[in-house]
Amino acid sequence: MLTHGLTLPIQYLKGVGPRKASLLRKLGIETVKDALYYLPYQYEDRRNKKNIFEIKPGEFVTAEGKIVQINEIKTKTKLSIIEIVISDGTGFLKAKWFNQIFLKKLFKEKQKIKLFGKTQVDYWGKYIEILNPEYELVDQISNHQNQNILPIYRLTEGLSQRQMHSIIQSALELAIPFIDEYLPESILKKLNFPYLKEAIKYVHFPPNDMDIKLLNEKISLFHRRIIFDELFFLQLGILLMKQNRFYEKGLSFNPEGKLLKKFFENLPFELTSAQKKVIKEILDDMKKTTPMNRLLQGDVGSGKTVVAVAAMLAAIEAGYQAALMAPTEILAEQHYLNISSLLKGLPVNVLILTSSYNKYSHLIWSGAVDLVVGTHALIQEDIRFKNLGLVVIDEQHRFGVVQRGAIRKKGLNPDTLVMTATPIPRTMALTVYGDLDYSILDELPKGRKPVLTEVIKPENKKLVYKMIDDEIKSGGQVYIVYPFIEESETIDLKSATHGYEALKKLFPEYGVGLIHGKMSSKEREEIMKKFRNGIIHILVATTVIEVGVDVPNATLMIIIHAERFGLAQLHQLRGRVGRGIRPSKCILLPYKLTEEAELRLRAIVNYSDGFKIAEEDMKIRGPGEVFGVRQSGMPDLKVADLLRDQFCLEIARKEAEILLAEDKNLRLYPEIRALLEEFWRGKIDVFRTV
Ligand code: ADP
Ligand code: MG
Repeated sequence: MLTHGLTLPIQYLKGVGPRKASLLRKLGIETVKDALYYLPYQYEDRRNKKNIFEIKPGEFVTAEGKIVQINEIKTKTKLSIIEIVISDGTGFLKAKWFNQIFLKKLFKEKQKIKLFGKTQVDYWGKYIEILNPEYELVDQISNHQNQNILPIYRLTEGLSQRQMHSIIQSALELAIPFIDEYLPESILKKLNFPYLKEAIKYVHFPPNDMDIKLLNEKISLFHRRIIFDELFFLQLGILLMKQNRFYEKGLSFNPEGKLLKKFFENLPFELTSAQKKVIKEILDDMKKTTPMNRLLQGDVGSGKTVVAVAAMLAAIEAGYQAALMAPTEILAEQHYLNISSLLKGLPVNVLILTSSYNKYSHLIWSGAVDLVVGTHALIQEDIRFKNLGLVVIDEQHRFGVVQRGAIRKKGLNPDTLVMTATPIPRTMALTVYGDLDYSILDELPKGRKPVLTEVIKPENKKLVYKMIDDEIKSGGQVYIVYPFIEESETIDLKSATHGYEALKKLFPEYGVGLIHGKMSSKEREEIMKKFRNGIIHILVATTVIEVGVDVPNATLMIIIHAERFGLAQLHQLRGRVGRGIRPSKCILLPYKLTEEAELRLRAIVNYSDGFKIAEEDMKIRGPGEVFGVRQSGMPDLKVADLLRDQFCLEIARKEAEILLAEDKNLRLYPEIRALLEEFWRGKIDVFRTV
C-alpha cells in the first residue's frame, strides 16, 4: 500500500515545484496522498451558468462578469473589507472579502472575474451579494474543457483554483493506479459504497451527468465513502484499545465492606439513587480482574466526590492505596479538606500532595498513607507508591491521555475512574472517551434550586452593590470573580486586587477577602477557612475557585468581565452557588459584548442544565474545541467532521465492531492493519498486546 506514487512529496509532482509546494504545505498538503484527500467543499456547474439578473438570494451560484467598482471599507472594529461590484450587462452583483487586503492589488476595474458562493441580500436590501466568495480571474480559468463540473477548494493566497485543478489532476494521474481497495466487499455492498479508487477520482472531478444539487447541498456518495474510511480507522483503533485492555491483568478488589458501611452511615445526607446506582456499577467493575477504565459523568453539584470516596475506600479496604488527582492546587486542597471531614472517625490516613506540599512523599512510598489527594505533582518521577490500586482523576477534560497514562503507571495496572462535569454527546462518547466504560449521575441531590442568572450592563453597576449589601444583610455570602487568563496574568491580578481594595472601602462593615493562584496554599487555606466560617462575607477571587469549591452559605456570585469566560467555565463557576437551602443568584457583568459573547451569556441565562449548555457551546465553538479532541491524543481528522458526520460515525463504529468480532487481530486484513497503524502512528500502538 505505501507505494511511491502516494508518498511522493508534493514538490516533485509534475507542475508543482518548491514555490507551489510551500503554498500547498500551508493547506496541510505534504504528499501526493494528502492532495488526493484534500477534498473540495463545493462544485461549479458549467452547464448552468446564469445571467446575473436571474440570480436569486440563497443559491449557490457561479457568476461571471466585469469588475465595475472596487472599494475598501474600514469598520470601527478595524476590520477591513474589500468590496467589488461586477456586471455582465444584465445586472449587478456585489462581493465582499474580510481582512484580505491583498485582493485590492489583485483586482482591477474592467477585469473579467468569476465568483462562486452562496448569495444573500445585502444590508441595504439593494444588491445581491456573496460574502467571501471563491474567485477566478478569467485569464486564469481552468482548461478542463470537457469537464462540466469543477471542484472548488479552500485555497491560500497565491494559489488559484485553476492551478489547484491541474495539481489534483496530476496527482490523480500519478497515483490512481496505486490505490487499492481494502474494505471487504461485504461492507461496500451493504453501504452501497463506490470503490475507493472511484470515490477519490470522482470526489474531485465528478461524472459529467452528476446532479449538482446533490453535490453542493448533500454529501455525495464519493465524499461519504472517504469520510467513512477515516471514521472507520478511528473506531477500529478505539475498539482495539478497549479490547486490548480486556486481556490485561489487573487487580480485583473484594473488600469485606465494613469500612464502606461505616462511611455510608456517617454521611450527613442520604445518597441519591443515581449515586447508589453508580457506586454499585463501580464496585462491580472493581471486582473484575481486568483493569477498570471508567468515566463518571455528572453535572456540577451532582455529588461525584462521594462516589469517588466510596470507590477509594473499597480499594483501601482491600489493602491498596488510592489516589485522587485534581487539575488545580486549590481544588486539591478543597478535596483534601472535604474528604478528611467525610472520613472523620474512619481508620484511613489521608495525605495531600501538591508542589507546595511535597515533604511527606516518603509516607506514600512506605505505605503509611492510604489515600493521597494531589495535583499533577502526583505524576512527578520521584513520587512512588507502595501499592497503588485505584486512581481517580477529577475534571478529566483538563488532563490529556498522557497524564492519565502517567498516573496509572505509578501502580501495576491500577483501576482508573475519571470524572467530568462536561456532558458528553454520543459522538464524543464514541471518540474521545470511546475506550472507556461509562457511568452517569443523572440526578442532583434533593433541594437544589436553580440559580437565578441575569446579565447586568456596566452602566447599572450600582445595582450590584445594593445586591451585595442585601444578600449579606439577609445572611448570605458573596463571591466576586475576576477573569484570570495566563497571557495577561498580571493585569488580571491587578484588576482583582483593585476590585478588592474598592470593595473594602465600599463595605467597611463587612469582611472582604481576596484569593488567587499566586498565593501560597497556606494563605489560601486560611482565606477559605475564614470564608467558610463566615468571617469573610465577600470573597474576591480569580478563577482559581472555578471547580470544586464548596461553601453552601455562599448565595450570590458576581462574575466580572463575564464576556471573557467560556461557557463551560461560567457553568462551573455558577455551580459554586445554589448549594445550600437559600435561593441563589448569579450576576454576569460584561464590559464589552461581541456577538459571540452575547450568545454565550444568553445560553447561561437561559439554561441551568449542563447538557443544554454544552450543546449551545458546540454550536458556537464546534465540538472539537469543546471536548478538547486535540488534547485528547486522538489522531487529527482530515475529512470527517464529528458534528456533521454523526450518522456516519455510528455506522463506522458498528462496522468496526463487526469486523473485530469476526477477526480480532485483523489477520485476514493486512492492508487494513497497515493503514490502521499508519493512521494512529505517533498516538498509540493499536496492536500493542494482541
Ligand atoms: P460535583 O459533582 O460537582 O463534584 P460535589 O461532589 O462537590 O459535586 O458535591 C456537591 C455538594 O453536594 C457537596 O457539598 C456534597 O457534600 C453535597 N452532596 C453530595 N451528595 C449529596 C446528597 N446525596 N445529598 C445532599 N448533598 C449531597
Ligand atoms: Mg467536583
